[in-house]
Amino acid sequence: MESSTPVIVAIDGPSGTGKSSTSKAVAAQLGLSYLDTGAQYRAITWWMVTNGIDTADPSAIAAAAGKPEILSGTDPEKPAITVDGFDVAGPIREQDVTSKVSAVSAVPEVRTRITELQRSIAASAVTGIVVEGRDIGTTVLPDADLKIFLTASPEARAARRSGELKGADLHATREALVKRDAADSSRKTSPLAKADDAVEVDTTDLTLQQVIECVVTLVEEKRADR
Ligand code: C5P
Repeated sequence: MESSTPVIVAIDGPSGTGKSSTSKAVAAQLGLSYLDTGAQYRAITWWMVTNGIDTADPSAIAAAAGKPEILSGTDPEKPAITVDGFDVAGPIREQDVTSKVSAVSAVPEVRTRITELQRSIAASAVTGIVVEGRDIGTTVLPDADLKIFLTASPEARAARRSGELKGADLHATREALVKRDAADSSRKTSPLAKADDAVEVDTTDLTLQQVIECVVTLVEEKRADR
C-alpha cells in the first residue's frame, strides 16, 4: 500500500480507559479524522428519551431506530454531533442518557443503522480516520490497518471518570461503570470485545501522554510497513 492510502485505526475498550482523549489526540497529531461512535449511540438514546420511547422495550426501540437523523463531525479538534439538526453534544453526556445507552445500543436494529453510518464516514475519510468504540475492530471495520484495545483496572477507570464528572462519588461511579461494561460485554449483537489481531494496551499505570505516544508509534510503524 502507498503511504498516501488512508489509514484506518480502530480503538476499542471499556469506559474510562482513555479511549476518547487518546483517539482525539492521535488523530490531531497525525492529521486524521476522528469518530466517536459512543456519541452516536448516546445521540440515538437521547432521541428515544426525548420522544417518549420506552427504552426498556426493545421492539419500540427497533421500530423507531430509523427515525432520527444523526450527523457526526470528524474534526478531532472540535468533534460535533447533531440529531435532527440539534446540537446534542451536552445533553448526550447527562446521567439519564448514560444509564439508558447500553439498553438502546443492544438492539440489533440500532446497531445495524449506526454501523452503516460509521462505515460510510470511515470510507469517506481522505487521509484516514481514528474510530473509537466497543466493536470497531471486531465488527464495524474488521479490515482496519491497526486495532488497539485499551484496558485499565476498574479503580483507575472509575478515578478518571469521577475526575471528568467533577468530583462525582468514586464508589457510585465505579459501580455504574462496571454495570455498563457488563451489559456491553454480554449483549448478543457485537459485544464489547478485543479483536484477535488487536494490540492490547493496559493504561492503568500510564499517563495520557504515554498512551498517546504509544499509539502514535504503532500507527507510524504500520504506515512505514506498507
Ligand atoms: O464511549 P461511550 O461511553 O460514550 O459509549 C456509550 C455507550 O455506547 C456504551 O456504553 C455502549 O453501550 C455503546 N457503544 C456501543 N458500541 C460502540 C460504542 C459505544 O455499543 N462502538
